[in-house]
Amino acid sequence: MPNIQSVIEVLYHKYRSCSEGHVASYIPELAKANPDDFAIVVVTVEGEVFKVGQTEVAFSLQSTSKPFTYGLILEEFGREFVLTKVGVEPTGEAFNSIVELEKQTHLPYNPMINSGAIAVSSLIKAPNFSERVKRVMTLFENYIGHPLVGDEAIFQSEKNTAHRNRSIAHLLRHFNVIEDDIDESLDLYFKQCSILANTQDLAMMAATLANNGIQPHTQKTAIKSEYVSDLLSLMFTCGMYDSSGEWAYSVGIPAKSGVSGAILGVVPGIMGIAVFSPPIDSKGHSVRGVKVFQELSKNLNLSIFKGKKS
Ligand code: GLU
Repeated sequence: MPNIQSVIEVLYHKYRSCSEGHVASYIPELAKANPDDFAIVVVTVEGEVFKVGQTEVAFSLQSTSKPFTYGLILEEFGREFVLTKVGVEPTGEAFNSIVELEKQTHLPYNPMINSGAIAVSSLIKAPNFSERVKRVMTLFENYIGHPLVGDEAIFQSEKNTAHRNRSIAHLLRHFNVIEDDIDESLDLYFKQCSILANTQDLAMMAATLANNGIQPHTQKTAIKSEYVSDLLSLMFTCGMYDSSGEWAYSVGIPAKSGVSGAILGVVPGIMGIAVFSPPIDSKGHSVRGVKVFQELSKNLNLSIFKGKKS
């Protein structure tokens, strides 16, 4: 394999001056992000770290969190039950679409879009709300390997403006996908989206999935290995929303994006990759992030369709 450090440094310098895309503003607090921040981190399954750029800048996980909470409820309730609440089909619609809920089964199509992720949040149970939040924080701490905090301002900002997500939750309640109070489940979803992490943390989450659920540094199990392929297959088919097909074609690895400008990608058995750069495209993906992943995949021969990695 070519020298990873020099490959990511070349890509960082190549795309540093890219000015395409816009920082997300539909959650007002996200608009404060610095569009010049840019970081690339690779963590191998052996725990080796390669990094370049502003790797210490913290951002909110947003939708990069969605595969991981899905894993939590799979472990707790098993596939059979979870499939009665959220499906495994791509929508071809935007991440915050509501239309598919009116179709056929009235279930969210998959857990990578907002409707599916809100349904997943409703299944994360505990005796009270702060215990529910603690379960979610502990989940991410197990993947990342150190304590985390949430960003209260981003949480409040999303909560105060989440009219579309609220509509989705009401429909989910109407169809009994959510069986109890929607407000608390929405708040839990906003808490999960507002957890702060940096690019190295995100790459570590990806590397843990690449390493079959075992965190490469702590050697602790973050998710049972039997469920890792559930997460990866859904990231692959649905993780990049309505550009998942294009991503499969041009990058070819399971991935998940977030509107804060983060993208994580998993090369099973090899490495986790994360790119952070706040300006996003019309589908909600970091513009620099997509370009870096496309080239990194070519340069390091990462596509899962390219056969044996050397
Ligand atoms: N919290 C965001 C929302 O619900 C997540 C969207 C994303 O990151 O793609 O709109």
